[in-house]
Amino acid sequence: MSDAPQPRLVLATRNAGKLRELRELLRGQVPGLDVDTQVVDAETAGAPDVVESGVTFEENALLKAEQVARATGLLAVADDSGLAVDVLGGAPGIFSARWAGRHGDDAANLELLLAQLSDIPHERRGAAFVCAAALAHPPGASAGSSTERGELRGSLLTAPRGTGGFGYDPILVPEGLDRSCAELAPGEKNAISHRGIAFRALLPHLVEALR
Ligand code: IMP
Repeated sequence: MSDAPQPRLVLATRNAGKLRELRELLRGQVPGLDVDTQVVDAETAGAPDVVESGVTFEENALLKAEQVARATGLLAVADDSGLAVDVLGGAPGIFSARWAGRHGDDAANLELLLAQLSDIPHERRGAAFVCAAALAHPPGASAGSSTERGELRGSLLTAPRGTGGFGYDPILVPEGLDRSCAELAPGEKNAISHRGIAFRALLPHLVEALR
C-alpha cells in the first residue's frame, strides 16, 4: 500500500489562471487539508470535460462540481465566472470564456469586447466580475450541494494594462483603485475578487465536509 497522500478534493477546472487563484484561496484555510498534496485539478483526477449547458453562473458551477464529484468519487469544488458589462445588459456573462468564438482565447475575447465598447465614454463603462462557487459531495454522501456568489465591481479601460492575472483582468479597474486587476499582486486581487468572496463564503461548507 502506498504512503502517498490521497487526494481529498478536486478543483473542477482546467483553467490554469483559476487553478492558481483557487489553490491560494484554500491555502491554510481548511484544517487538515494539505493544498499541495491533497487537492488535485480535474485533469489530474481524470474527470471528463463538463458541458456547461446552464444559463446562470450558479447552474454551471453546480453542473461542473456535481459531475466531477460523481466521476471521481471525491468532494469537488467548481466555479463559473465571467464579466458582466452594464451597457451590454450583463454580457458577455456566462459566455465570457468564448465571447470571440473559441473557448479560452483570452486575447481575442478582450480585443472583441474593447472594439464593441470603443464609443462608450468612461462614466458609462461600469462592469463586474461575477463568480458562483459550488461544492458537491461524492455519491452516497448525505449532505447536499452548496453554492455561493461574489462580485467585483469596477470600470473598463479602453486599452489593456498590466501583465498579471488572466482573461479580462487587464481592462477592469476595481472601484476605489487606480490599477487594473492585471496590475494587482495575486494576494491583492484575491482579497477583493469575485472568486475570493464566493470561495470564502463556501469555506465553512468545505471545512464541515472535510471534518
Ligand atoms: P469559466 O471558466 O466558464 O468560468 O469562464 C470564465 C471566463 O470569464 C474566463 O475565461 C475569463 O474570460 C473570464 N473571467 C472570469 N474570472 C476572471 C477574472 O478573475 N479575471 C479575468 N477574467 C475572468
